[in-house]
Amino acid sequence: MFLDRDGVINEDVFYPRTGEWEAPLAPCDLVLRPGVLPALRRLQALGFMLVLVSNQAAFAKGKVPLADLMAVHDRFANILTDAGIAFTEFCYSYSHPSGVVPGFSGPSLERKPGIYFPIAVAARHDLALERSWMVGDRDTDILCGRNAGVTTILVANPRAGEHAGKIDPDFRATDLMEAVDIIARHVQNQALNRA
Ligand SMILES: [Mg+2]
Repeated sequence: MFLDRDGVINEDVFYPRTGEWEAPLAPCDLVLRPGVLPALRRLQALGFMLVLVSNQAAFAKGKVPLADLMAVHDRFANILTDAGIAFTEFCYSYSHPSGVVPGFSGPSLERKPGIYFPIAVAARHDLALERSWMVGDRDTDILCGRNAGVTTILVANPRAGEHAGKIDPDFRATDLMEAVDIIARHVQNQALNRA
């Protein structure tokens, strides 16, 4: 189970200084979307391995020190641990094609829609991509999932703006809980078909 973070698990944040809705740039700005902790626990209960695949370009764009993005992650990881949710891997890409920070700018294999992370994680953990899912709120998430050969669900996020709506996902959901409903139904149907 590959999950995007910003706009799916946590709310995007509007920063007047950048004039954009974006990933939380400080730990205190991390606010989870409603219902995500029960939704993640349900995915775990269905037997899915949870893998985060997240583009975090703010550092490459010179908006924030890398340490701040890592502090946001630390708070996120603590919230999950306290909620009894265990991710198998957190895969972050800190680069951006038009970044300004040397070493983090230009083409990247890791950045979605690149499929490096799903392929590498599947290989490391012996995951069957044809039985895996990608849940995200942007076209880059859907493209990444599609190109990696997993089933895709687009979660509605009004903040995604022009970054969503051009690529057709396999399924659409209003939020993560509804995405998990779709997945649970799918798993149940597969079990029935095998019976
Ligand atoms: Mg997102």
